[in-house]
Amino acid sequence: MRIIVQKYGGTSVGDVERIKMVARKSIQALQRADGLVVVVSAMAGETNKLVDLAHQINPRADERELDMLLSTGERVTIALLAMAIQALGYQARSFTGRQVGIVTDSTYTKARIKRVECDHIMDLLRQGTIAVVAGFQGIDEKQQVTTLGRGGSDLTAVALAAALKADICEIYTDVDGVYTTDPSIEPKARRLSRISHDEMLEMASLGAKVLQARCVEFAKRHNVPLVVKSTFEEGEGTLITREDADMEQVVVAGVACSRDLARITLHEVADRPGIAARIFNAIAAKNIVVDMIIQNISEHGLTDISFTVPRSEGRRALELLAPVVEEIGAAETKLNETIARVSIVGLGIRSHQGVAAKMFEALSREGINILMISTSEIKISCVIEEAYMERAVRALHAAFELDREPTAVRARAGTAGTAR
Ligand code: ASP
Ligand code: MG
Repeated sequence: MRIIVQKYGGTSVGDVERIKMVARKSIQALQRADGLVVVVSAMAGETNKLVDLAHQINPRADERELDMLLSTGERVTIALLAMAIQALGYQARSFTGRQVGIVTDSTYTKARIKRVECDHIMDLLRQGTIAVVAGFQGIDEKQQVTTLGRGGSDLTAVALAAALKADICEIYTDVDGVYTTDPSIEPKARRLSRISHDEMLEMASLGAKVLQARCVEFAKRHNVPLVVKSTFEEGEGTLITREDADMEQVVVAGVACSRDLARITLHEVADRPGIAARIFNAIAAKNIVVDMIIQNISEHGLTDISFTVPRSEGRRALELLAPVVEEIGAAETKLNETIARVSIVGLGIRSHQGVAAKMFEALSREGINILMISTSEIKISCVIEEAYMERAVRALHAAFELDREPTAVRARAGTAGTAR
């Protein structure tokens, strides 16, 4: 049984005309499938409006109530889309997260999916009824409504695709695929026809906004092939899939960047066992994610420790550290909120020489100073002053010739006779 899961984002269901268009697109997709599930987000801007309402009532609103509120945005679009499909003479039925069986943990506002109990919709799908599912929401073991974190509808779609063993999960959005970098920064950015789950995961974690990182992680774990496409234009989009031999020949697939970080530096802390643990435990206890960490070589038994956190949590992290700093006796604590991170991502990084050197050289040619560096198997990130972020992205895009189709891919397309 060929099952397709589609997901339409907020702009795709942003008004009545667009909802009607999505209804037509789903009906077309039904012709290619034996069963069709359509996951939708709330209408564009609606979730933000709800957050705003809550903040007007109470800036520290209870998170259970927040999830109760936020989950309503998607209820509107599922019902309207089901009606639009029915109006065209096809069968459709809307489902909330609970009704479709998305069971999560109880971490309100960023719950994790524990399992998906959706067998009961199989009969419906078999009969040709389109299941229209609310993205971004689930239910915990105590029957409480939860949400999956902003942008979480992608995750709903992938989780359903995995549970239903769908052939493909198609993510429809307002861009026509995944690009080598943000085209609003580098107009020469190129749409990728394919990218591996791992590369996409890094790109998403490092700032590419097209997909939520958790959704890509889930897709990788369950080996769900994803396609990102435009709702508004025809096109092949970008296929995100399991790695194959050809992919590693491309050294760098893309450049990601993010302003969403702040650096905290603790000056002159004692260099002895247990200090780092104290510092990072205080932060981890409040679920603040630390990205890069640097500890300098110590002099006279004292050292400096710097690390980055999401910018929105910088001040809170500093507050949390205050008692620890008092206790361990650091000389000074500083917060820098004007930094940014630029990263190159590619499976080829693990097997090619000199990639880091080339990156640093490209930045130095622009006179950009590197503040922090971190690497993993398939990415290299540099923290720089925020003011240089765009320049750095363009320099890296040029240095790794990302505006051109990679030679390996060109050759392959040529032999297969599918050169475009
Ligand atoms: N409506 C939710 C949000 O705006 C979920 C989503 O769009 O994926 O974050
Ligand atoms: Mg969205």
